[in-house]
Amino acid sequence: PAEPDLVALEAADVAALLPRPAAESDKYRRGVVGVAAGSERYPGAAVLAVGGALCGGAGAVRYAGPAGAGVLARYPETLVSAGPPSRAGRVQSWVVGPGVGDDPNARATVDDVLAAEVPVLIDADGLRGLDPERVRARRAATVLTPHAGEAAALLGGDRAGVEASRLGSVRKLAERFGAVVLLKGSTTLIAAPGGGPVHVNPTGTPWLATAGSGDVLSGLVGSLLAAGLAPVQAAATGAYLHGLAGRLAPTPATATTVTAALPEVWDQLL
Ligand code: AMP
Ligand code: MG
Repeated sequence: PAEPDLVALEAADVAALLPRPAAESDKYRRGVVGVAAGSERYPGAAVLAVGGALCGGAGAVRYAGPAGAGVLARYPETLVSAGPPSRAGRVQSWVVGPGVGDDPNARATVDDVLAAEVPVLIDADGLRGLDPERVRARRAATVLTPHAGEAAALLGGDRAGVEASRLGSVRKLAERFGAVVLLKGSTTLIAAPGGGPVHVNPTGTPWLATAGSGDVLSGLVGSLLAAGLAPVQAAATGAYLHGLAGRLAPTPATATTVTAALPEVWDQLL
């Protein structure tokens, strides 16, 4: 039979993929995720991405950036440093971009993270002006998580064009960047470079269309990368959990209540 164009994760697939700590596990073996997000202007993005990462099953979260005080006030378990990500200590994955802004500091932060030899997730401001060759040259995996507007900017087109051809757009981005691409929106699609079926997320709700909800997703997927899931699996599983959390959060959901709903989603699936 012909290969299907679209595949959807089911609850049983997600349950099997969720990282569970082994009896002899420790926090390093569970995975450490680094988050380089937020700025003086947008400190909340750092808090939301770290919250998503803490709820993604990694053993620890390191935060590198200027919003450490706010992160610590909300999540005292975070390992915070103010310098560049490369000086934050060992991590198994990086999440970069939410709320970093568009000044030279932000570009330097993205460049610093791209040089790391671990899986990297790039979202939001981190996607601005991203060089496909720079991403293709990485040896470790890269995951991009644009919404339609960010995808259009990466493709040099307009948002309406992406919305009119979401499947073609996500495939084109994955090829161009040699990266796993998760295209957010009313139907979230995940494509890998080199072709193959595209994952479509079966969970989710338009109540997730709320400020900061994408920042939570970036941390969540980054955490699954740190725990050792393959990039497509991390992206598809993260989107699945995020969608269920959006449904479970009291209506109207906010990025903070979506984060708070994530542990209950795990409890239902495990
Ligand atoms: P962002 O655009 O980065 O704030 O991320 C928004 C999040 O909400 C993503 O996870 C989207 O997939 C999700 N989202 C936005 N609009 C919708 C929608 N109409 N239906 C379902 N999910 C949505
Ligand atoms: Mg966003």
